[in-house]
This record gives sequence, structure tokens and C-alpha cells, in this order.
Amino acid sequence: MRIGVIGAGVVGALIARELCRYDVEVHLFEREADVAFGVSKANSGVIHGCFHEQPGTARARFCVEGNAMYATLAQELDFPFLRIGAHVVAFDADDVATLKRLKEQGEQIGVPDLAIISGEELRAREPYVSPDAQAALWSPTVGIVEPWDVAIAAVENARDNGLNLHLGTEVTGIVLDGERVTGVQTSQGDYRLDAVVNAAGLYADRVARMAGVDRPVLHPRRGEYLLLDKQAGKMANSVLFPAPTNNSKGILVLPTVDGNILLGPTADDLPELTPDAIATSPTGLAAAVAGAKRLVPAVDPRLTIKTFAGVRPEPAGGEFVIGPTEVSGFYQAAGMRSPGLTAAPAVAHHLVEEIAAAFALGRNEAFDPVRHGLPRFSALSPRDRAALIEKDPSYGRIVCRCNEVTEGEIVAAIRRGARTVDGIKFRTRAGFGRCQGGFCTARILSILARELGVRPEDVTARGRGDSIVVGRVRP
Ligand SMILES: Cc1cc2nc3c(=O)[nH]c(=O)nc-3n(C[C@H](O)[C@H](O)[C@H](O)COP(=O)(O)OP(=O)(O)OC[C@H]3O[C@@H](n4cnc5c(N)ncnc54)[C@H](O)[C@@H]3O)c2cc1C
Repeated sequence: MRIGVIGAGVVGALIARELCRYDVEVHLFEREADVAFGVSKANSGVIHGCFHEQPGTARARFCVEGNAMYATLAQELDFPFLRIGAHVVAFDADDVATLKRLKEQGEQIGVPDLAIISGEELRAREPYVSPDAQAALWSPTVGIVEPWDVAIAAVENARDNGLNLHLGTEVTGIVLDGERVTGVQTSQGDYRLDAVVNAAGLYADRVARMAGVDRPVLHPRRGEYLLLDKQAGKMANSVLFPAPTNNSKGILVLPTVDGNILLGPTADDLPELTPDAIATSPTGLAAAVAGAKRLVPAVDPRLTIKTFAGVRPEPAGGEFVIGPTEVSGFYQAAGMRSPGLTAAPAVAHHLVEEIAAAFALGRNEAFDPVRHGLPRFSALSPRDRAALIEKDPSYGRIVCRCNEVTEGEIVAAIRRGARTVDGIKFRTRAGFGRCQGGFCTARILSILARELGVRPEDVTARGRGDSIVVGRVRP
């Protein structure tokens, strides 16, 4: 029995890992050079409290279940997950009415421990919040992650349990025998498969059409962000939301797990999905700053170290498209807009249970759910640092000065599968600090070239011929 998963974002990665719990050959196809280079690399990283979701929807059900699964998932897969809680801030009577509605809605779908607190109490917890705040909805189960950590960790664990990972492999066709899936055509050749899961993110509509399935219908909705330097300080202890708008949860101010402050996202419906959909714009960034300043007036955009945009795959009707289709063996986990990151573990679990029941799959008794993350030099005590350097002197050579990332960690990331500068960045945080790679990119590039046995001009930022250098100035 062979099952293929299309798309190595957080959803496809967790589905592939769940499939490895069964006695089945699992193939994960990703057209990009690495895991989590799609929607999963550019979002807020919030493990939502789910009170924004309407009762009776798949979004509400999988969000609540997914949120509850994150603590165990983070422990098994060894990625940082901080349950810091969230406040939805009300500025007037209409907002206060919205908080009451969100609280009732949340309680209806089983969100625990929601409470409405006064403006004074909010300012005691969040000293930088606007003096105009009148009240807030407190949701203690909200958490934060770096979203790519989840996908990378899930794929590493799945690989340890037998996954066949095909990076740089675009699925170009679904092979059918009548109304039954028998395989896929890819840019790297054909594969015979008994079932296929479509987890292709923004492209899930195109993949569905390859199988003759007309759902989901997607449209792109861009969100722009600013990331502030750690020097900005702790301007938010929890995730700060405004009252939601018609098409989004609003512009947030939140800390990241690495200790920066993130502002955004905007919500901009785009006419079509083009390669520049992830470009930021002056108007978008200005709107993100204005929204953030409403919550925390002291945020200073001059401390921005990075701006970026992510694109949501908005499904028509707003609902996730999960489950089997009219084509036998063709399953979908599509239309995964927010709260898709939160819902992903629950979606993966339920979809794979359904597939296992349909094909009467036996358990893989050897499945080991535990993965160990890379050593993080900056987090070690002086004694542990010394011990590591004694064992491997490359841990004594700092490459990224902003985040104190060593050559040893970069080499370890390459041995785990990083092939690009962004792949190193996501796995080690090298290049994620104040200078955004200004000092360390050249060093990372040479280490990648040396370890992979390629020329520096063949090393890319994120694959697809995205070169950083074109050749040598001197022979
Ligand atoms: C601005 C923004 C903010 C968000 N904030 C949050 C949040 O705070 N909390 C939350 O829970 N959710 C949030 N989300 C939603 C969350 O990011 C997504 O639900 C989730 O990342 C979707 O993951 P995915 O695996 O479905 O998609 P992706 O990560 O896009 O993965 C799909 C993969 O499929 C690959 N692919 C596509 N076509 C093919 C093909 N033909 N062959 C091979 N590979 C293919 C792509 O390259 C891609 O890597 C946000 C989204 C955005 C854009």
C-alpha cells in the first residue's frame, strides 16, 4: 500500500507523520526546495484560542482539538511552544458587545477559561496597551510557535519513521483509472500510488482540478507584517487582538518565541495568485503600523528589522475542505486558511484515521513519535557550551553574531536536510537577527557549498535558481 501527500507545509507534514503510524509506504511531494516554504513560512504563528470560530464549523472543531494537541506535539517533536494567552481589546461599547459575543461563541464550542476583564486589569497585565482600552477578552489557552518549526520537526520525525521525502518535486498530474487514483505524475517522474492527499496550500484548487474535483475554490488574501528588533523590548506579554473585522481577526501585536515583537497582518483580497503576491507594499505596511499603534501606541516602526507578507488560501464560503472526494483514493486537506496552523494536528489525525479505516491499514508497531531538535548553542550554560566545543570545535565558531549561532549548528542543520540559506535560517535562526544576514550570509553560503560539495554560485537563498552570488571576482 503506497500513499502520496502533495505539499510539505504544516498540514502535509503532519499528515505524512500520522500516516507513518501505519504499515504503509508514505511519499511526501514538495515542489519547493525545502519543507514549509509556502503559506506555513509567513503567518502569525498563533495557536489560536478558537473563540473567533463559528459553532458547527470544521474550523471550530479542528481548531479546538488542534489547540489541545499542541503541548504534547511540541514535547514529542521538540519545538518551542509558549502558551502565553491572548487579550482581545475593546475600545468602545460596540467592541465590548463583540467581546461578549466571542466569549459566548467560544464557550459554545468548548474553549476553556475565557474571561472578560476591565481596562485597568488589562493595563496591569499589559503596561504598554492603549490608555483608551476599556475591556478585554482573556483567553489563556492561546499559544505561539514559529510555524516552520512545526513542519520541519514533523517531517524529520516522519523520515525517522520511514517517510520518502521528495523535495523539488512538483506534482503535475493525478493518474486515474476511471474514478480511482492510481498514481501521480511529477517533474521528477511518475509514482504508482493507492491513495493521494491534496495538502497543496494556495495551489490545492489546481491539484484538485488535476483529479477532476471542483472543490476547493480558493482566492488569495495577503497579510503584511513588520518584525521589530529585540531592542523594542517586551511591548506585549500576550497576543493582543483588536475586535475582529468582517474578513480577518484584525492587526495584532504579539511576541515571537524568539523574543521579537511582530505587528500585523493586514487582510487584502488579491485578484489572482501571482509570484509577487508575497511582496509587501507601502500602504499595507502603513496599515499594519496604524493597526498595531491603536493597540500599543508606543510601538516604533523605526525598529523594524524585517517586513514580509503571507498569503492565505481563502476557500469560497470560508470553510476548510477536508476528507474524501468523489474520486476513490483522492483525499483533501485544503482551503486551510487561518486557523489552519492551529487546526493542522487535529486535521491530520482525523483524516489519517479515515484513510486507515477505508484501507484497513495495520499499525506500524515500530513508530517512534519522538524527535530531538538541533542543539541550540545560545541557550546552553557556559559549562554545556564548553563540553560541546570540546567534543566538536566547530561549535566554538560563531557564524551569526546576532543570534549566537555556531558553525556546528549550521553543519548539523545541513546533515538534517537544509540545502538553502533560508533552510539554515529556519532550522538555526542564523540570519534572523538584527542584521538579517548582513554579516553571516556569506559564511553560511561557504559552509553550505563546502558541506554539499557544490560551487558557492550554486547555493541559493530558497531554491529555484534563486542564486545569491554569480561567481568569483578574483580567480
Ligand atoms: C497572513 C497569515 C496569517 C496566518 N496566521 C495564522 C495563525 O496565527 N494561526 C493559525 O492557526 N493559522 C494562521 N494562518 C493560516 C496558516 O498559515 C495556514 O493554514 C497553514 O500554514 C497552511 O498550511 P498548508 O500546509 O495547508 O499550506 P502550505 O504551507 O502552503 O503548504 C502547501 C505546500 O504545497 C506545495 N505545493 C503546491 N502545489 C504543489 C504541487 N503541485 N506539487 C508539489 N507541491 C506543491 C507548496 O509549495 C507548499 O509548500 C495564517 C495564514 C496567513 C497567510
